[in-house]
Amino acid sequence: MFETIIIAWDGSDHARKAIRVGCDVAKKYEAKIWLCHTPEGGATPIAVDPFIGAVGAPLPPEEIAAAGKAALDEAEALVKAEGCEVTGRRVGSVAPSDDVAALAEEIKAELIVMGRRGRGAVAGLLFGSASQEVQRAAPCAVLTVI
Ligand code: ATP
Ligand code: MG
Repeated sequence: MFETIIIAWDGSDHARKAIRVGCDVAKKYEAKIWLCHTPEGGATPIAVDPFIGAVGAPLPPEEIAAAGKAALDEAEALVKAEGCEVTGRRVGSVAPSDDVAALAEEIKAELIVMGRRGRGAVAGLLFGSASQEVQRAAPCAVLTVI
């Protein structure tokens, strides 16, 4: 049923829970685990101030890649602590939902596991934007953990 599972990681407590659940499912189905993370900071500049330069400017690509690697190292350590191996890792570059959906398509994953919320600061939301978008865009089943 589930041969390949993707866990979407944003470093939040919700995503930690997704790792625990994803690993539990992976053990039961002997599934392969992929990790996917989209670092922040790739955004297009939203304004240019004559004194301080671009506001909201994208970070240099090497900084984004390093942030992505650090985030995925942390997630991989958590997966190993659950007694599972990581088959593959993807640092996304578009948006969390697009990146995870594209990866699912590419590796033919049958399941994406993610948190219902993430690191977002707006209290009271039932679903975060990434979780809503993934449910719309995913080519496979999505398990949103709470
Ligand atoms: P918002 O980002 O809209 O303010 P939020 O942060 O509370 O809301 P989401 O971003 O939808 O909620 O996060 C839900 C889940 O999506 C997270 O638990 C995580 O599994 C996944 N996710 C969120 N951001 C990323 C990301 N940058 N890379 C990979 N997965 C992510
Ligand atoms: Mg978020």
